[in-house]
Amino acid sequence: MLKVHICGVGDGDCIVIELPDGRFGLIDSYILPGSDVSPALDILAGKELAFCCLTHPDKDHLLGMADIIRAKNIDVGEFWYALSDLHGILKIWTNPTFYGGSTPVSHRWVEQQNGPLVDLFDAVADEIKHENLKTKLGVQAQDVGGVQFVVFGPDDATWNRYRARLDRARCECARVPKRYNNRLSICILMRYGDHAIWLLGDLPRAQLRRLPTREHNEQLPIARMGAQASMLKVPHHGAADGLFDEISETLMRDSNNDVVAFSASGSDMHPHPSVWKYWTETNKRIAATWTGNADPSESVSSGATAHLVDQCTRPICESRPRDVLITVPSSGNIAVEYLDSDD
Ligand SMILES: [Zn+2]
Repeated sequence: MLKVHICGVGDGDCIVIELPDGRFGLIDSYILPGSDVSPALDILAGKELAFCCLTHPDKDHLLGMADIIRAKNIDVGEFWYALSDLHGILKIWTNPTFYGGSTPVSHRWVEQQNGPLVDLFDAVADEIKHENLKTKLGVQAQDVGGVQFVVFGPDDATWNRYRARLDRARCECARVPKRYNNRLSICILMRYGDHAIWLLGDLPRAQLRRLPTREHNEQLPIARMGAQASMLKVPHHGAADGLFDEISETLMRDSNNDVVAFSASGSDMHPHPSVWKYWTETNKRIAATWTGNADPSESVSSGATAHLVDQCTRPICESRPRDVLITVPSSGNIAVEYLDSDD
């Protein structure tokens, strides 16, 4: 049995994978509002973590991860990331002049924005053996605990453009637009038994469109199985840039038993109304990391005909986070349950 535990952390990702061999994996970490601790810290206590993956260097994917890596009661194996030349990148990111001059304000800004990232890589350097640091660029496949992981890191063109943008920013002492980080996002295709599962990080549409071609071009032995999944985590917390026409047909099977999961706050633009409308109209089962005072008629009025798992609609006002636990058998239907934080 494979379990995917999507922690309810609002507009962020914190995904704990329970592997069939009893070990665990962590894909990103974030904290609950009003807390400075990742919910994964409790879930993973006393457990063996086969890998810890930072999809991309944004706060809503990394806060709390350093504590997990330093935790004495969590045994961390590999660390997966997509920042080759980390030394050069951190040197730019942590240079106050890059953020508008060497003033107390720019120093404080650097501290707040990049301090957690530097702290994370300090923890990685202290706690994880050098041979277990795995830079994920391009497409790579491996078996971990009985699950096939196809990891898509940034391709050469994306990586080179990012480096060029960083160099330009250094010359101009200007910030790199935040959206560039999302283009670096690792995304993962897991294969277990009859099921394939996409965890799409914060990847924007230009990169999303290329995923099936990239897998095919790499001629991976398991590529023959196709990239159509029975579960998909919607990219970028449901933001509008994580949608393209026919994303469902391109990346998923055509079955009403398929599960589409949102890791988002359920308010503001996460998910964006167009993204919510698109996925609910696919008629697949929707699972989301929020609950609230939503009026279920909203989804009806948007024309949605989806089978909403436990009526998770897109609230307009207040919402509160909850965890989604997805159980994937080697064959048969995927099960979805909610773990309310108040329980
Ligand atoms: Zn994010």
